[in-house]
Amino acid sequence: MPEIAAPKGTRDILPDEFGARRWLLDAHRTVAESFGYRAIETPIIEATDLFIRGVGTDTDIVEKQMFTFEDRGGRSLTLRPEGTAGALRASLGAHLDQEVRPVRVHYAGPFFRAERPQAGRQHQFTQVGIECIGEGSPALDAEIVEVAWRFFAALGITGIRLQVNSLGGPEDRARYRTALVEYYTPLEATLCDDCRRRLHTNPLRLLDCKRDAGLVEGAPLLWDSLDGASRDHFTAVLRDLEAAGIDAIRNDRLVRGLDYYSDTVFEFWHDTLQGAQSSLGGGGRYDGLAELLGFPETPATGYALGVERILMVARTLGTVPGVEPAAEVLVCSVEPDQAGAAAAMARLLREAAARTVLDVADRRLDRKLRGAGRVGARVAVIVGENEVAGASAVVRDLDSRSQQTVPVAELAATVARILGGDS
Ligand code: AMP
Repeated sequence: MPEIAAPKGTRDILPDEFGARRWLLDAHRTVAESFGYRAIETPIIEATDLFIRGVGTDTDIVEKQMFTFEDRGGRSLTLRPEGTAGALRASLGAHLDQEVRPVRVHYAGPFFRAERPQAGRQHQFTQVGIECIGEGSPALDAEIVEVAWRFFAALGITGIRLQVNSLGGPEDRARYRTALVEYYTPLEATLCDDCRRRLHTNPLRLLDCKRDAGLVEGAPLLWDSLDGASRDHFTAVLRDLEAAGIDAIRNDRLVRGLDYYSDTVFEFWHDTLQGAQSSLGGGGRYDGLAELLGFPETPATGYALGVERILMVARTLGTVPGVEPAAEVLVCSVEPDQAGAAAAMARLLREAAARTVLDVADRRLDRKLRGAGRVGARVAVIVGENEVAGASAVVRDLDSRSQQTVPVAELAATVARILGGDS
């Protein structure tokens, strides 16, 4: 039979790898919830229009990276390429902002982009993120950066280089767009195809271009186009970050790939990642997005971080915890006749919170005991004819190889003592 492989750009997370993933996801949940963020889950498929309106037609994502298909009713659906548009649609659609402002939500889940697969770039990847919806205060921009910062610290990841910039408000950007067009128009013939087109549709995206990086160096600075209020907002963010003990690097060229950002934008970079994939994630303020989606104007700010890339860094730095074994205890019968008694003891141990695997297969005891090592068990409980007759069990410490026969009533306590290291 031909083997069916996982689709291109996707991968399986097998049990040995899952522990690291869970460690990361638990850390993100714990840190986000310590700041009062609450979990949310939105659909993996969304109306294509959500991203066309929310992310913007001149972005790489919408232009060439979406997995889009029609449902049976002819509606265009897209596998979500990012989480902010969906989280905002869900929160405002349910009027959460009328109960409490700001609405603080966090999420984790799969996202999909049709990029050329390579290290750190997959068709299906995982993001954790938070959104803080309903207030425009710079203190909240600093708060979300701090959540991410504490999360990286919880994972033991050092060496994060936080890049921050301000895109200002719509008028600032209009001014800056004019300045960019003035700068790039005489150079138009030398630009790459994408940039030449974007010069007329979305000139800010020219700053993201890797091919025309030399030209980016000489481009006008965004800061020079910002008005007083935008500068004050950004200055307040920088001040709050400093007060929180967070090192921020101002990067005037940081514009981020999506259209919906305004004022503060940021990215977390790490040197162990290479080139275009050096970003662990990022985010910023997106005060204009709610209106683009047809909701009343609602200021908001948030971030998304790439789980696979963060795990790559954590592995390189050696901060990922060791693989957790499947079980602590193996309970086995000597012969099939003792299967029922062995199963009852396994139940008893699980109730006492020991992770317990049961082996009542019809094969030799020494082979069953070898299996104990493979599942990672440190204790074997052996149930033979004599044990059933005496309402007892043989408890073997697989590290010290010592063993004792104990009454069933003392089984859980004996096992707990060995696992606790004081046998
Ligand atoms: P973005 O929404 O583009 O800012 O992405 C945020 C983060 O998600 C990135 O910094 C990456 O860590 C991760 N990410 C984005 N696209 C991919 C991808 N195709 N494969 C793996 N991770 C990705």
